[in-house]
Amino acid sequence: MAINRPKGTEDHLPALSPKLTLDVSAQAHSWLVEKARRVLERAGAQRIDTPLFEEADLVKRGVGGSTDIVRKEMFTVYYFGDHGGYILRPEGTAAIVRSYLQNGLKQLPAPLKLWTHGPMFRAERQQRGRLRQFHQVDYEVLGSTDALVDAEAIALMVGVVRELGLTGVRVKLGSIGDPEDRERYNTYLRELFTPQLERLSDDSKDRLTRNPMRILDSKSASDQELLAELGVRPMLDFLGEEAGAHFRAVQGYLTEWGVEFDIDPSIVRGLDYYRRTAWELHHEGVGAKSALGGGGRYDGLAQELGSKETIPGIGWAFGVERLLLALEAEGMALPELAGPLLYVAALDEVNVPHAARTAMSARAHARAEFAYRAMKPAAAFRDAERRGAHWVALLGTDEVTQGTLSLKNIRTGEQRSLAAADLAAFLQEHA
Ligand code: AMP
Repeated sequence: MAINRPKGTEDHLPALSPKLTLDVSAQAHSWLVEKARRVLERAGAQRIDTPLFEEADLVKRGVGGSTDIVRKEMFTVYYFGDHGGYILRPEGTAAIVRSYLQNGLKQLPAPLKLWTHGPMFRAERQQRGRLRQFHQVDYEVLGSTDALVDAEAIALMVGVVRELGLTGVRVKLGSIGDPEDRERYNTYLRELFTPQLERLSDDSKDRLTRNPMRILDSKSASDQELLAELGVRPMLDFLGEEAGAHFRAVQGYLTEWGVEFDIDPSIVRGLDYYRRTAWELHHEGVGAKSALGGGGRYDGLAQELGSKETIPGIGWAFGVERLLLALEAEGMALPELAGPLLYVAALDEVNVPHAARTAMSARAHARAEFAYRAMKPAAAFRDAERRGAHWVALLGTDEVTQGTLSLKNIRTGEQRSLAAADLAAFLQEHA
């Protein structure tokens, strides 16, 4: 029986694959990451990469024991003779903070801006835009509590969206306050929901003891009905003085820079370590329940991971597949096959190695391919065309002995004869 890829994973395929869509196009993925890289590196962010698996404790402490991620969605890594205490990473932040602490990155100029890209793993129920292995572009800033850093982080997310050419994106901005503010809010929520216990979904009953705020995030329709009926007051009503001032400062910067946003009192980020600024980016083409990305401030995380001092931090992550779904909804075409500038074919079997050598030396200057066996001209042109080539060189014994090349542009029909020694200059001119 044939073996298929695991549920909730995708293959990223080459151009011209049958049934190709943007979200599974390998070329579209790298195009997107390259755009994001440019935006982030221009802002001073440096690349960091951490392992795909980490100590389970890092994820438990870093993401939070009451989250769905830790309770239901972790992939455990086992290998022979090991205790199985490793987890495939479900997100990037905890590991980046771990790496910052472990590698003494505090010595670098603060605030330190970092970015990464790669696969993340969560054993979620698969649906459109929700995968078990998905990809994120991630940006983190460590070492500053300044509201200017928060505003810049949000502006950079919008910058990536613009660089991609996406238009229908909304920023939903909120604040979840400081831990004391959240405690007061959770007390309010407990008092509100406890008399309604029987009407809550099982998950939310559990949330009521562990972290009542998460009930607001519930995906259950009956929970959402109850929320609407009770007219729950928003977290924003419970912001303390400092968190309130911070939130107003963030909004002030964004307004000054012309970054549009909507205040969304219902923003509750799924992960435990967030505080103060929290936001999400949404797009109609992907659906209201599925954010393109989100971020938040996490000043308490480093201490949670064992740091003696507070290392303030803030960061965001985009879901790459979600961005590609949004681009597809906006009508973006699949990337074209990046064909060779030069395609070399020998007309006789004895000249095949020469054709190969010609193409291989051309690669110092341009994308070049060759035919692996002798071909008649019509077959060579057909093959070159299918591969998306521009110029075709057919090598017969005359060309090989005289050291020349007869080139034909298969798109325009233009023909050129060239001394083989001039090929490099020709390719540079046409690259
Ligand atoms: P989070 O780390 O949960 O804040 O997620 C950040 C972003 O990653 C989300 O806004 C999504 O775009 C993306 N994302 C999260 N979980 C998944 C998933 N299971 N499948 C695809 N994308 C996801």
